[in-house]
Amino acid sequence: MGAIETSWGHAGAGWAIAVHGGAGAVPFERREDHVAGCRRAVEIAVEILRGRGSALDAAQAAVESLEDNPAFNAGTGGSLNRDGRLELDASIMEGTNLAAGAVCALPPYAHPIAIARAVLHEGRHVLYAAAGADAFAREHGFSPSSEATMVTEAARLQLSEVTSGRASAGWAGGTVGAVVRDVYGVVAAATSTGGTMGKDPGRVGDSPLIGAGTYADNAAGACSNTGNGEAVIKLALAKTATDWLRDGMLPQAAAEMAVSQLSERMGAKGGIILVDYEGRIGIARNTETMTWAAASESLERIVFGIV
Ligand code: ASP
Repeated sequence: MGAIETSWGHAGAGWAIAVHGGAGAVPFERREDHVAGCRRAVEIAVEILRGRGSALDAAQAAVESLEDNPAFNAGTGGSLNRDGRLELDASIMEGTNLAAGAVCALPPYAHPIAIARAVLHEGRHVLYAAAGADAFAREHGFSPSSEATMVTEAARLQLSEVTSGRASAGWAGGTVGAVVRDVYGVVAAATSTGGTMGKDPGRVGDSPLIGAGTYADNAAGACSNTGNGEAVIKLALAKTATDWLRDGMLPQAAAEMAVSQLSERMGAKGGIILVDYEGRIGIARNTETMTWAAASESLERIVFGIV
């Protein structure tokens, strides 16, 4: 199990952010790019947080930069369903009033997380699916993209490996997420994915589900998950892990406990990032790799890796 030093990110020290680039097995030759993408996402968010911007803005901006990066399974470059179509999932939550928004099985849009944010902002519903999510996006001024623009050669190749039986279908890795605490003590979490490679049309994983892939509560902290979505849903893992923070567990211990539950109770693989209400960070996974980057006001630099 991977773990990072938790002596940094002192309690009450101001803003903090962590992002992940998905739990999986990033091939050796792509690791540098993957980590660089996570670093870049944190740099963008740090600018916002240093300027006393909100946790929600920072989380959204970090995830948008990862959605734009074709190395990740979110937005452009996302996994394809078994028919070769993009069905994108994303969710975002802010911990003050448990405000949340999400979209699932969304047709191609550059930034699913921005549409999830619009759902949160409107506040009428929490989750829009498929054609309804598309209609919501258009009504709120988002321009649809196209598969020609957003489907990458690498995604097509991976799908053909799956459909020809050379690789197993299922969880793909490369999902992205961010957890943030801002200078006002507000926490937010955001997660975005193309889901599992070769999934059935209409299959929805944990990432757009509040309480499974994403959760944020100022009294506890914020969480973004990645990995085997079906297992993460059954464990309601994001809500469960943030509840442990509320009960006083340190984020690194909570992250490791979450990953043990995935292994021991579900026989599943995945990874998790957490920030608590005081800005301490926890990161763990039981997969071969999970790229990540993190920063906090007290640390004064960006740390990153592939735990
Ligand atoms: N959790 C995502 C899903 O099941 C996949 C991933 O994290 O790689 O859709």
